Amino acid sequence: MRGPCPKAKAAHLVPHVCRLGSMPYNDRMTRQTIHIAYTSSPEETKRCARLLAHALCAGDVAVLSGDLGAGKTQFVQGIAAGLGIDAPVTSPTFNLLLGYVGGRLPLFHLDLYRLEDASELEDIGFYEVVDGDGATFIEWGEKFPGELPEDRLEIFISGNTDAPRHIEARAFGKHAGEVLENWAKAVSEGEGA
Ligand code: ADP
Ligand code: MG
Repeated sequence: MRGPCPKAKAAHLVPHVCRLGSMPYNDRMTRQTIHIAYTSSPEETKRCARLLAHALCAGDVAVLSGDLGAGKTQFVQGIAAGLGIDAPVTSPTFNLLLGYVGGRLPLFHLDLYRLEDASELEDIGFYEVVDGDGATFIEWGEKFPGELPEDRLEIFISGNTDAPRHIEARAFGKHAGEVLENWAKAVSEGEGA
């Protein structure tokens, strides 16, 4: 991730003070997993993701964790909608990497479920997109922790039946921390509206 994100500021998503529990967000809280939302439908998951899309900057990377069927791909569909991408977002389970242009940022969607060894990452273009200027979402990225960029978001979706999904997230790095802060605030404001 690179530097401050003027687009997030323009969208009035930067809070004066962002409170997580009773404490203002600061560097000490980086890497602390925080609650984002409970969602009771795919549409709600996508709406939650759309709010993250508004806070994203060029170069941002997020790992999406959760069981098969948790809603990771639904989440990326919401990201695409939030970035203004019209193309239908399908699961990259077989392609491993799918890219979308035409939105505010290029979107790269990876699914590493079938990848067995980190040595295969180069072949699929992993480092190119992670170091590039798009927004990159990686399903099953936690399989290769040593290959992930230092500054990244980690998003956890739990539940895979008809039960509501629980979306949580943590930030590694200062910039990711700011993005997380803006997202969490936008979601909580949306819930209160
Ligand atoms: P994953 O990519 O995590 O394997 P998908 O996003 O492909 O999962 O599929 C999630 C499935 O769960 C979809 O069939 C979706 O309709 C369903 N679903 C039910 N409730 C939710 C919810 N709250 N959020 C996201 N998906 C949900
Ligand atoms: Mg998926």
